[in-house]
Amino acid sequence: MIYVDINSIWNSFLEKMQENLTPVLYDMWFSETKLIELTEERAKILVPMSLHKKHLKENYIDLIEKTFTDVTGSIFKFEFVTEDDINNEAIIDIDEIGVPENTSFNSNLDPKYTFENFVSGASNKFAKATALAVAEQPGSMYNPLFIYGKSGLGKTHLMHAIGNYIKENSRKKVLYVTTDTFVNDFLKIYRKNEGDSNFETIDSFKDKYRNVDVLMIDDIQYLEIAHKTQQEFFNTFNDLYTNNKQIVIASDRSPDDLKKLEERLRTRFVWGLIVDILPPDYQLRMDIIDKKIDSNNMDTFFPQDVKEYIANNCTSDIRKLEGAITRIIAYAAIMNGSDITLELAMDALKDYFGKTVISKNKIEQVLQIVANNYNINVEDLKGKRKSNDITIPRQIAMYICRIYLKESLPKIGSEFGGKDHTTVMHAVNKIKKEVEKNDELNIEITKILNQIPWINE
Ligand code: ADP
Ligand code: MG
Repeated sequence: MIYVDINSIWNSFLEKMQENLTPVLYDMWFSETKLIELTEERAKILVPMSLHKKHLKENYIDLIEKTFTDVTGSIFKFEFVTEDDINNEAIIDIDEIGVPENTSFNSNLDPKYTFENFVSGASNKFAKATALAVAEQPGSMYNPLFIYGKSGLGKTHLMHAIGNYIKENSRKKVLYVTTDTFVNDFLKIYRKNEGDSNFETIDSFKDKYRNVDVLMIDDIQYLEIAHKTQQEFFNTFNDLYTNNKQIVIASDRSPDDLKKLEERLRTRFVWGLIVDILPPDYQLRMDIIDKKIDSNNMDTFFPQDVKEYIANNCTSDIRKLEGAITRIIAYAAIMNGSDITLELAMDALKDYFGKTVISKNKIEQVLQIVANNYNINVEDLKGKRKSNDITIPRQIAMYICRIYLKESLPKIGSEFGGKDHTTVMHAVNKIKKEVEKNDELNIEITKILNQIPWINE
């Protein structure tokens, strides 16, 4: 037998593949592959995850065989293995195909979120790979795809990336919605009495949610508190699923932890693939910082110690990390385009890190958060104005202070600009009753509570 250098064969192969594929696809599916064995008719390829085995076999095998034949002049059969397989000699196999469709309609996708600008590292690599696999073959591989992880780790980004990819590469109908939108749309059907201007029939609801190839629902945790809507979501899910339509779901918790969700829904979520995204490690944080600075087209230099400062202080939330960069850039601009230094960065981020923990007064914090949510001022909440856009947030804020902070009625009254304790009691009782029957309000309040860190601990 002649000695062949399999590494250089594989490198020539990879070069050719690179010419044939977009950078995103090449990076994901080929950049980490390696030829580890070549016998007379078999080529054994080492791949990083078992996901690659399935995906390469189902989607790329023709291209791989043809390209490899171009390089070697012979025909080989391919076998894909992971490190684990080499250790336990296991093989898995599955097969299926998708169906194309068309039409232009509002997908609610934000074009700025793509796979290209989703930086990957150990904590999100698997999630990105499955998302891309779903985007390449919607409805056939992992259905539903359930992505979960804490806030600010890139779930929504990945969903939009899936949608944008599918729209770019096929004529499939994609719809991205948040759970609130789904709940609101559904509840509209039941509000026949409230005037007919935005009255929607069941048919138009079904048309919107079932006449699609890909349905993505974000923040499904809010469905836990929307009891009436769970049944309808169940029906929508079943209809899409039986028609091989792709469903993608994101949540801040795993299906197991969505305890208030009907059992039959939770079990369905497990039918497909569940992937989690973990907080970014230091390297990934640095990579993301570099990418963000790069895409900002900054002409000012961002020194290494500033990057390290950000990476060391934003450890668990990429949204926050982005916010830090934006702040520094804005701050430097305000200072007449002065150089970015560690000192300037620390100044710019003075109140930014950990400001949620150190606040004087919890009622004051609730007031601030509620005011932000409704685009009004804290002074409005403390004041006497009685228009609905102020009264309702004020009552909600009182309710939160009473139920979740367990503050006394007189104390709340005095913090809310010196109101009588009976006024507070009335507000608390009103919201308490309302929450029991109004799913939308329930979601609204849950969202506010989610922004109050010490309530969730
Ligand atoms: P989640 O939905 O999990 O709360 P998002 O998808 O909204 O988080 O992400 C928050 C912000 O962080 C977005 O601006 C997003 O673009 C950015 N982001 C998250 N993960 C990454 C990543 N891996 N690479 C680049 N940007 C990211
Ligand atoms: Mg999100």
